[in-house]
Amino acid sequence: MVNKITIKTILNKSKTRDDWFLGNYTLNPYAGCSMACIYCYTRGSKYGGEHGVDVSAKSNAVPILKKSLKNSIRRNERGIIILGSAADPYPAVEKELTLTREILGIIKRFKFPVHILTKSELILRDMDILKGIKEIAILPDELVDKLDNGVIISFSFSSLDEKLAKIIEPGVPKPIERLETMKKFSDAGFKTGIINMPVLPFLSDSDEEVETIINSAKKYGADYILYGGLTLYGEAPDDCKTLYFNFLKENYPNLVNEYKKLFKGSSSLSKSYQRDLTVRFGEISTRYGIKNSLL
Ligand code: SF4
Repeated sequence: MVNKITIKTILNKSKTRDDWFLGNYTLNPYAGCSMACIYCYTRGSKYGGEHGVDVSAKSNAVPILKKSLKNSIRRNERGIIILGSAADPYPAVEKELTLTREILGIIKRFKFPVHILTKSELILRDMDILKGIKEIAILPDELVDKLDNGVIISFSFSSLDEKLAKIIEPGVPKPIERLETMKKFSDAGFKTGIINMPVLPFLSDSDEEVETIINSAKKYGADYILYGGLTLYGEAPDDCKTLYFNFLKENYPNLVNEYKKLFKGSSSLSKSYQRDLTVRFGEISTRYGIKNSLL
């Protein structure tokens, strides 16, 4: 039985376009995410506990979205809608509920461009609608010369190691399945790529591992690979910092102190770690001829 909630708003407009993902709006069809990645910063107390692993479908999302998009058009506002900023738009329940599919249908009807962030191969089911959006979406003026069409699809990874991914992202399809899904979208002419976020210190950040994911990005048709370091929030039992340290204690006890040194009690990695990751990722990406940005 799927939990359902009613909402007052579904489309959140950003003050300025997000340079990283190119979004003007965010939209999350579901609250909570069954993929249960232990590093997920939307879990726990950071967002008031609303984004746990239990999924709730926003049951009145479709009529609210129609109204919001009509209003945006009336105000002459156009922009890319990011689907999946706070919760994957393709949790397991989407298979039977088809809420994300309905939402895409509305987005197509109103000719808005979309950038989907997902870890699920279920997105293949909606390739027909996405092809339709690709044909007719109206891009905001400032992106008309920079994008070929109005659909971008990004697949997220923290590691390509199947064993590690199974522990750290228990509800997510295997890395190889995500790569193969990305290839199908690439072959169908979509702008698609990898979001390697978070890169995990000592677990997926060596030169070899960075090179492997960049090589895979090229091999499986990615136009870009974005990356970012790990952020760990909170001390409460469901907070990702607590969950992540529990994972380390259980599986990599030798890394607990290394992580403490890197984070120094903060939620972010040390500046020197981040600089080093930027340099290494940039150098290897250049060598493989792949961009670290969408444009
Ligand atoms: S798929 Fe994304 S939103 Fe869902 S738990 Fe993992 S990181 Fe969080």
